[in-house]
Amino acid sequence: MTPWDTLPKVELHCHLLGVINPALLSRIREEGGPILVPPESLAAVYPVSDLDSFKRWVEILKPYQTARMEAMRPLLAAHVSNLIEQRVVYAEIMLSPTTFPPEPKAFLDAFHRWREWASDLERGRIQVEFILVLPRTLAPELLERDTVNALDLHRAGLVAGVALVGVETGESICRFAGSFERWRDAGLGIEIHAGEHTGPESVWDAIKYGKPHRLGHALSAFEDPALLEHIRSQGIHIEFCLTSNLRTSAVTDISRHPIQTAKKLGISFGLNTDDPGAFDCSLQSEYQTASDNFGFTSEDFTAVFRNALAARFAPRLRHPAHAE
Ligand SMILES: [Zn+2]
Repeated sequence: MTPWDTLPKVELHCHLLGVINPALLSRIREEGGPILVPPESLAAVYPVSDLDSFKRWVEILKPYQTARMEAMRPLLAAHVSNLIEQRVVYAEIMLSPTTFPPEPKAFLDAFHRWREWASDLERGRIQVEFILVLPRTLAPELLERDTVNALDLHRAGLVAGVALVGVETGESICRFAGSFERWRDAGLGIEIHAGEHTGPESVWDAIKYGKPHRLGHALSAFEDPALLEHIRSQGIHIEFCLTSNLRTSAVTDISRHPIQTAKKLGISFGLNTDDPGAFDCSLQSEYQTASDNFGFTSEDFTAVFRNALAARFAPRLRHPAHAE
């Protein structure tokens, strides 16, 4: 038990694929559910300890990158139940459009079924929303299809936003600019992972071409005061993922994490797990890490809760704890 266990929490940055770990795969297998990777293969790189082992982890889990919703369903069930146990009252979960059949009508029908599963899992204890993720490496010929799919899903109330993800290479995201504009105009929230393993120029690039409401990681932004001022004055929310940053060597030492600077500057930020399965962490352990290393108090966590909730992509709140 930690003093933070009973605080209501919000999580905005967690990949559904990222909840997989060897124990979860073993459990799904024991219960007769579908698994696409033997837990024993994953155990060899568990938990992830640097960027190379993270890349191996992603490689081993490749069958899940093209997995359909039946294989993803037990992951969703385990994740939502885990969030409820941690008193997370609002969560946005990132998932790939490849989880659903490609043909537009089948895509939408399948997503409706997925949403029904999620609503059943909420049990009135949590509000779960979805964010569609697109990789930076997305094949150009798929961009238009995914752009339209995201717009259709949003119109149907099934996704709250889109996220651009994947290991940064330093390449500009300018080819996505037209899609970002259409999504933004339609009211979708925009999140871009940037400045995790590359310099502040990648964060500037993300802002220029994506005009994101939220940035994932944004560590290198803290090397550039003008950029920080832009983020602060525009109210761009930063999704911090402390353990993830340490485990992928995005920061060499937790004491070098810029979360304290963000707090001092009054930048809106939240705490998140990113890939709790890979990094052997939970939102509760992230709170403990912030307390142990940065002296975060209940007041700080209340501010984190409020900021994250205000930065959510879903316009409507359905959970009573949000009023606290
Ligand atoms: Zn991420």
